[in-house]
Amino acid sequence: MRLYCITHNGSPRHVIERDGEARLVEGDAFDAYELGAPVALDGAALLPPVRPSKIVAIGLNYRDHAAEMNKPLPREPLMFMKPSTAVVGPGDAIRMPMWAGEIHHEAELAVVIGRRASQVKAADAMGHVLGLACGNDVTARELQRKDVQYTRAKGFDTFAPLGPCVALGLDPSALAVEGVVNGTVRQSSSTRELIFGVPHLIEFVSRVMTLLPGDVILTGTPSGVGPLAPGDTVTVRIEGIGELTNSVVEQS
Ligand code: MG
Repeated sequence: MRLYCITHNGSPRHVIERDGEARLVEGDAFDAYELGAPVALDGAALLPPVRPSKIVAIGLNYRDHAAEMNKPLPREPLMFMKPSTAVVGPGDAIRMPMWAGEIHHEAELAVVIGRRASQVKAADAMGHVLGLACGNDVTARELQRKDVQYTRAKGFDTFAPLGPCVALGLDPSALAVEGVVNGTVRQSSSTRELIFGVPHLIEFVSRVMTLLPGDVILTGTPSGVGPLAPGDTVTVRIEGIGELTNSVVEQS
């Protein structure tokens, strides 16, 4: 089962797709709803499937990526935030601030919170998850190296592509994750390689801040990150979820 958001008669609407049939969500996709009229997903303009109040991202959560960044393995999750204004949907353009130096793709599993989570234990964590999406933690790498923290490097508008859907009821523990640029696979790993798994991350983050329905945890990226250029097409592909593809343009 997958949750999408589309433009329907000029308004954003959630859609649930099950067994090849898509129907409008009547009510609150995070709470009580019924399935309404059937709609066509083919050719529909897909929007980001959720609008998070915040995105909590985890750095250095794959061993091979920590190695390629010449950083020691973290002893606990390294967390930072990306602003909600960075979110774009499938097919939207990533706008490169050309003054900022190298801009890298980071293919990541995105965990979408379904139920308010505060002080949640790992054993209970999955009960607070709505589902899983593809995310791209786009990063201005030179600014990341230059600044003490990541707000500027990770916070540009369009630097958080999310989508194409939220896959509901999917186990996050062993999913293939790929980052593809212009058809060439640059990143290829599995969430099996995560240093800190999804339940642990939810416990860790929710000990600090309350996670609200729609909030997103980006779980970190495997090795193979690299620069994007205007004209590129970048895809994050995750087993059981689908493909999130974005074009890359110059910020005008
Ligand atoms: Mg990242």
